[in-house]
Amino acid sequence: MKQLLRRFVQLLLPARCSACQRTGPDAICEQCSRELELVIPRYCMKCGRRRSTEYSSPDCAECHGLDIGVARSRSGYIYNELGRTLLADFKFNGNLAVGQELAERVLARIPTRAPRLFDEPGLVLDAILPVPLHPRRRRERRFNQSELLSRMLADHMRLPMRTDLLVRSRETETQVGLTQAQRRSNVSGAFDVSPRWQRRLTGQRFIVVDDLMTTGSTLAACARALRRRGADAVYGLTLFSTNPLVHPADRLAEDDFHNVPPPLI
Ligand SMILES: [Zn+2]
Ligand SMILES: [Zn+2]
Repeated sequence: MKQLLRRFVQLLLPARCSACQRTGPDAICEQCSRELELVIPRYCMKCGRRRSTEYSSPDCAECHGLDIGVARSRSGYIYNELGRTLLADFKFNGNLAVGQELAERVLARIPTRAPRLFDEPGLVLDAILPVPLHPRRRRERRFNQSELLSRMLADHMRLPMRTDLLVRSRETETQVGLTQAQRRSNVSGAFDVSPRWQRRLTGQRFIVVDDLMTTGSTLAACARALRRRGADAVYGLTLFSTNPLVHPADRLAEDDFHNVPPPLI
């Protein structure tokens, strides 16, 4: 009801910038969009986050030599203060225009073909999978932001999107106040492949799409569930990712963020 009321109020108001609230035709105004910071061109091959120029390896110091679940990942924007404001408006206020605007801007800058997107010659992908929300949360929010992003990516890459393949097998506890290791164990085993797909994944390769990546624990849990059921490899794509070059204490944790209650109008 609250969300319906909010949508109704949005309809009555003139279009405004999601970040600074200035009236104008765009969901993100010209001035604010200058603060959007692309991860491209210096990214880690594995986790897809910003990579230091001082480090010569194609992956970053944080995932060098580790199995992070996904084979490779890409991410659009660095999750800075503006990113936090825009993503909150998209997810919690249901401002779909800002989500669409962000996705369009990222898609305009990334290759449509898998081998170029993930720097892997000959790569063939089978489908795009959004990170599923627990059915209760999906009912509350009325949409899954990762599904909207997946649909746009599926059109961009001309690949099918499957929403019934990857499922949330249990509801996760609140992650607020947990360490990185605790977060990982909290989310591990939270995903599975739906029974109708379980025997059909052998040799398949997927892209898992999420709105935000910080520790990578969600993408890792999804990738491990798919690989356990026979998938050959899993790739990741996120709209935002934290900058690993920023001190960990200053990072905005994705899992805390997932649990922020929607703001009231
Ligand atoms: Zn603005
Ligand atoms: Zn990395």
